[in-house]
Amino acid sequence: MNRRKFIKSAGYTVGGIAIASASSPLIFPDKNATFDPNNSFWANEFLLVNPSLKENIKVDIAIIGGGYTGLSSAYHLKKYNPNLNVIILEAKQVGHGASGRHGGMLLPQPPTESFEIYDTENPVLHQQTYELTVKNINKIKELVAQSGLDCDLKTDGYCHTIIEEEDIAYYKKYVETVNKLGMPLEFWNEDQTSEALGTEYYSASVYDPNGGSLHAVKFINILKKTAQDLGVIIYENSMVNEIVEGEKIDLLINNSFKVTASKIIIATNAYTSKLGYFKTRIIPVHAQTAVTKPLTDKQIEEMGWNSRLPFYDSRNYLMHLVLRDDNRIVIGGGDADYSFRSNLHYSGDLNKVLDMTKLELTRLYPSLKNIEFENIWNGLLCMTSDDVPRIGVKGKYNNIYFGLAYNGQGVNMSFMFGDVLASVINNKTHGWENTMYYNFDDGLNSYIPPEPFRWLGSSLLMKFYKRKDKKMIE
Ligand SMILES: Cc1cc2nc3c(=O)[nH]c(=O)nc-3n(C[C@H](O)[C@H](O)[C@H](O)COP(=O)(O)OP(=O)(O)OC[C@H]3O[C@@H](n4cnc5c(N)ncnc54)[C@H](O)[C@@H]3O)c2cc1C
Repeated sequence: MNRRKFIKSAGYTVGGIAIASASSPLIFPDKNATFDPNNSFWANEFLLVNPSLKENIKVDIAIIGGGYTGLSSAYHLKKYNPNLNVIILEAKQVGHGASGRHGGMLLPQPPTESFEIYDTENPVLHQQTYELTVKNINKIKELVAQSGLDCDLKTDGYCHTIIEEEDIAYYKKYVETVNKLGMPLEFWNEDQTSEALGTEYYSASVYDPNGGSLHAVKFINILKKTAQDLGVIIYENSMVNEIVEGEKIDLLINNSFKVTASKIIIATNAYTSKLGYFKTRIIPVHAQTAVTKPLTDKQIEEMGWNSRLPFYDSRNYLMHLVLRDDNRIVIGGGDADYSFRSNLHYSGDLNKVLDMTKLELTRLYPSLKNIEFENIWNGLLCMTSDDVPRIGVKGKYNNIYFGLAYNGQGVNMSFMFGDVLASVINNKTHGWENTMYYNFDDGLNSYIPPEPFRWLGSSLLMKFYKRKDKKMIE
């Protein structure tokens, strides 16, 4: 989904009404939050689950959440300082959340800067953040190579496809500007796009040679093994029910055991508000992805997706597609839902979403009209009203670190945020901590009001953008 246009200004839409009555963001956890199972295609590759925590312990750093943010934080912390005593507390199993359910695309650029120069007065910031995210992709490549394990990693680039002709001028100009800044993006016209992707549906595209795709859970497994090899202890089925702030922080686990930590990292992304944090900054959004059965050689030939490059389109509720080496297509997007009171449980109809997904796929590739799907699943995105992911440190004792809210573009960013947090904790330079996006808080501009205004605002905006998308594809 396109972060910029999605719930942008959901806060302002109804925030004005709500703001006077809004309570201060008290830490008020939902101690008994429950999560939907991970039924994704990737989940077939999960390793055995580690034992849960069964005693009270004291550690240097406790990381809450075992997705890419948490695992990457742990890995980098031990890499930069092997003496640190680091644990991960994961409510279910590592990769249970978005990191084990995503659409497989590995994307450079932070969501705020995705094909858009956020600070037009200072375009060099755009290039700098791009470079940091590209450097991060190279670190992922190195880590995967060193592990000797496979995660279907491809890094030969991806395309951002443009539906409407009237958007072409914007993207041409954008590519010209960023080329001058040294970014290697290419504008591809309609013919070049259809030659590469095999569909005549798009008016043009932008090719970025950095980026690609990977297998969600195989990458989780690499991170889990590498972190454990460095001495990180990962407790699975170990849910943090409560955080008690102080010079030393106490965490209540499974309503039974206590972890006392000098520092913690909140790496719970869309689940974070259930811990009582970021309630007026983030919103969990349900999004779906599906996978086809492996295509036959004949189907692949007829489709003509010659470059096999992954791509995502220019809609508000964007569609994203990856053609895997096993000839399955992973396709997602096109719709998303917010549930009242930030409900983490999906109550939509996956069969209906699958019908929509099939329609979208055959719109692009009419030859696939009889294509069969293997699976469809739901996951949670963590959105902000300003598109800015949150990273930094908070608390009276400056010992509560956080990295979250990737606005649907988090595979690369979450790994990078783990590195940034580990660097900051070890007084090491990463680069991201010097951008405007570290410890970012834009006050009222990024305020998301409480219920029922939150639900009302996001429902209205979602309807509005869905209607716009419908017009775009008609
Ligand atoms: C359907 C879908 C498709 C996507 N497609 C793409 C894509 O193609 N490319 C891309 O770049 N991004 C994509 N994303 C976004 C990307 O997957 C996420 O931004 C990223 O994985 C977030 O990683 P994370 O570690 O911060 O969070 P998560 O992976 O969600 O991890 C959070 C973890 O915290 C655990 N947890 C929660 N509460 C507690 C608690 N109280 N105690 C202990 N543990 C807890 C959860 O069980 C979970 O494992 C997609 C997301 C979804 C949902």
